[in-house]
Amino acid sequence: MEFRPGAEEETFRRAVRDWLGHALPPGWRDGTFARPRSAADRVDFARRWYRTLFDGGWAGISWPVEYGGRDLSARQHLVFSEEYVRAGAPDLIDVGVGPGLVGPTIIAHGTQAQKERFLPAILRGEEVWCQGFSEPAAGSDLAGLRTRAVRDGDALVVSGQKVWTSFARYSDWCILVVRTNADVPKHRGLTFLLLDMTLPGITIRPLVEMTGVAWFNEVFLEDVRVPLDCVVGEIDRGWDIVITTLSHERASVTPYPRIQAELDALVALLGARPDQARDPRLRQRAAQLRCEVEILRLSTWRSLSNTEHEGRPGPEGSMLKLLWSEIEQRLFELAFEIEGTHGLLDENDPAAFEGGRWQYGLLWSRAATIYAGTSEVQRNIIAQRVLGLPRG
Ligand SMILES: Cc1cc2nc3c(=O)[nH]c(=O)nc-3n(C[C@H](O)[C@H](O)[C@H](O)COP(=O)(O)OP(=O)(O)OC[C@H]3O[C@@H](n4cnc5c(N)ncnc54)[C@H](O)[C@@H]3O)c2cc1C
Repeated sequence: MEFRPGAEEETFRRAVRDWLGHALPPGWRDGTFARPRSAADRVDFARRWYRTLFDGGWAGISWPVEYGGRDLSARQHLVFSEEYVRAGAPDLIDVGVGPGLVGPTIIAHGTQAQKERFLPAILRGEEVWCQGFSEPAAGSDLAGLRTRAVRDGDALVVSGQKVWTSFARYSDWCILVVRTNADVPKHRGLTFLLLDMTLPGITIRPLVEMTGVAWFNEVFLEDVRVPLDCVVGEIDRGWDIVITTLSHERASVTPYPRIQAELDALVALLGARPDQARDPRLRQRAAQLRCEVEILRLSTWRSLSNTEHEGRPGPEGSMLKLLWSEIEQRLFELAFEIEGTHGLLDENDPAAFEGGRWQYGLLWSRAATIYAGTSEVQRNIIAQRVLGLPRG
């Protein structure tokens, strides 16, 4: 079991570091680059930056070579993430659904025509995707979804509602799961679609989150005609494809490099305030977080090592998800306390520390124990698949 990168990974690390050293936009590192502020500008910037990554050979690096990737190992992917975060390179969350979830799903289940049509555009950052899975009455119990699709000639006609669809307003395409058969057990009557977001009958309404930002959306579908060549796999057999997407969602979320960087920033915040730095309660919690982030690092490497030996991710993915999401929340709670009354300032207030990033992070971190499977769902998986307990 390998907990550390080997010589090959270190060579790879240097290549990533060298490339990032000259490819980042001028002024990015010293903060003089005018960073995009509105959501639309951020998405536009992320598209262009993803194109730069593609041109440099760093887009879809774990995809097979035949589909434009480099077929690199999960360990190399993690090294890439470590260096990417260390360099403070641009956040790719806005364009992440395509390369992280959609591409691997189409590679595994798509037709040759779907692969040729969609994969190059994802890798070049030309088309942004969103994920239309959750509904008002179907989140953890996703197979209970009710958005219906009925066959009519060469199309499926879709009606229903999705919710929490991140980035929908800026997306060109959406992976959509619909019910095509209500007369069979719920997992068996689902179909997986590629939805062109410009089709008539689609209405998108933003939902403002408690951070003040509106990434989320409601997506209403009214008699939307989706051509049959946009069905992935077979009609009524979409559940296996959903599982592929979800397993990539969980596997692609290995945020320990980001959490390590947040901890370093928190320690700097604490160290710069002598009174708080001497407060035993705050020091103890910072030290505890240091131990937990190290456990997260080791667990991440161990999980990758297990995946390499077993050929697929195991239930330890749920342990990792539980671990990092709860560490992230504790980290921002501590930072907020260190800030004291400064934590109450708006991010636009010049007196706010570091542009208000800690109070924003505190609010955003509440989402970590919900998306990609809630903590309760992860504990259920661990209880059943690791501890061998019966279903609850
Ligand atoms: C930041 C963020 C981004 C998201 N982006 C998207 C997106 O782009 N596309 C998309 O489709 N969805 C997205 N989601 C939605 C997300 O997938 C759902 O919120 C999640 O699956 C939980 O579903 P729910 O909100 O309906 O809660 P529910 O499933 O209704 O759960 C409510 C509560 O009940 C608990 N619970 C449910 N079932 C069980 C059980 N069997 N045992 C014990 N406890 C249980 C849950 O843990 C939770 O605490 C996003 C969510 C967040 C927070």
